[in-house]
Amino acid sequence: MSILLIITLFNIELLIKTDYKAIYLITIAILFILVIYLSFYVNKLKELEANIKLINKDLLEKQEELKKIAYYDYIAGLPNRNMFYKIMNEKLNTRFTNQASGSILYMDIDNFKNVNDTFGHDFGNLLLKKVAERFKSIKSIQKKDNYIFRMSGDEYIIVLNCKDEKKTEEIAIEIQNLFTEVFVILNEEIKVSISMGIVFFPKDGYTIDEILKKADLAMYKAKEVGKDGYKIYESKMKDEVENRVLLENSLRNALNKEEFILHYQPQIDLKTGRICGFESLIRWESWEHGRISPMEFIPIAEETGEIIEIGEWIIREACEFAMRIAEKYKKSIEVSVNISPVQLKRLNFVEMVKRTLKETGLDSSMLGIEVTETALMESFDDSIKKLEDLKNMGIKIYLDDFGTGYSSLNYLLRLPIHTIKIDKSFIDDMIIEKKGGKIISEIINLAHDLDLKVIAEGVEEEAQLSKLRRYNCDIVQGYIYSKALCEKGVYDLLDDRAKANY
Ligand code: C2E
Ligand code: CA
Ligand code: CA
Repeated sequence: MSILLIITLFNIELLIKTDYKAIYLITIAILFILVIYLSFYVNKLKELEANIKLINKDLLEKQEELKKIAYYDYIAGLPNRNMFYKIMNEKLNTRFTNQASGSILYMDIDNFKNVNDTFGHDFGNLLLKKVAERFKSIKSIQKKDNYIFRMSGDEYIIVLNCKDEKKTEEIAIEIQNLFTEVFVILNEEIKVSISMGIVFFPKDGYTIDEILKKADLAMYKAKEVGKDGYKIYESKMKDEVENRVLLENSLRNALNKEEFILHYQPQIDLKTGRICGFESLIRWESWEHGRISPMEFIPIAEETGEIIEIGEWIIREACEFAMRIAEKYKKSIEVSVNISPVQLKRLNFVEMVKRTLKETGLDSSMLGIEVTETALMESFDDSIKKLEDLKNMGIKIYLDDFGTGYSSLNYLLRLPIHTIKIDKSFIDDMIIEKKGGKIISEIINLAHDLDLKVIAEGVEEEAQLSKLRRYNCDIVQGYIYSKALCEKGVYDLLDDRAKANY
């Protein structure tokens, strides 16, 4: 601008001197400079405009990214819980105008925690992703207004624009079938199942919280009946939960009220035909609820932590029982006790067992503890360390329910166990299915190769017994010999068999 000013001043001076030719030339020069100046600014403006566009694009991308973080789950690449609430709010709020209705399939991977603990979190994350991919692959879900969400951890929800119970069930079965095939992750093959709770809206609820609560309840019921299945919400489920709360309350006082009692099921050595031990099994005679199965109350006691005190009582009681038998019959007999994973995880578990043996005076070689594979998987290294300590003390370790968990040979070798107990389901199969017997004979041979003894659980039929004899099974336990007996029942049995030296 200053140049322009100088030139203009110079022009005026020339005008005064009335040199027209020079004025003409200088005017052209001024115009020329003006044009150059203007085009320079136009370019600058264009640059500025392009920059603004870029910034805008950047902002939009950032906005999209933020939306993704807020509404999508980066592990599974699915919409997340926030998006679920957003979409469900839209659906439920239009119910008076559009009558939005549909179903919700609430799913949870069975025993996912074990997968994480065993293979690590990165492996677990890859599994979550693969599970999401399987959900996405279902053709019947890929429709307008159907959605798949990863809610948190190992929980997924599928919202279907379908209120028809039969059709929803068909899709539920289709989803379950996706899991018959193993997953291959980092060269490991892993079999995974899911449990599912199904609710319909608005039939089962008008608010998201109500719908989720009921879906959770139905899913919990599916888990309760053995996982790997689905349950449609029914109003009686609510009553069952209320009943559970009542049980929980009664369980809290059951020990003080002396409502527990141990029963003992004899184990028979197949070579000698003699009783070689007893498994102690707890019984609860509740004043309020009558007799409750351990299958029902042990899981509750585990969840509430009550199992710690109850478990200590069981070990003491079983040790005292073994002492009374030794005293009465002048012959020691082994007693085994079921240990819950919650107990095994306790820091002072080994100490507690040691103290109980000392206080009751029972020789450690007369005590057995039964642990399940799933109990060990929950904290593998810690459990092994504790079992080794117990084994070194002379206590026998039984692997309970063998065949129902991972049953990997690799880790069977690492476990400090003496005996495996083949689960009743295998013993049942052995006379139903042709292959059943073969599996058992292979398990027995393998166990013997590893210097382990084998107990067959839940033997009920003569046909099972004769096969087990043929396969060289060491010990059997089951109704074919006796149910679990109260202490008086044990005395009657032993008195009866006393002539035969048990
Ligand atoms: P488990 O340790 O596998 O115990 C075997 C179950 O099978 C017992 O049921 C036993 O009575 C039953 N059983 C034995 N032989 C036969 C048979 O021939 N046929 C049939 N149908 N059943 C047979 P129970 O006493 O109801 O115990 C069920 C489960 O509850 C046990 O399974 C165990 O997991 C748990 N449990 C029982 N007592 C205790 C305990 O003192 N502590 C802990 N932590 N858990 C216990
Ligand atoms: Ca057992
Ligand atoms: Ca068992």
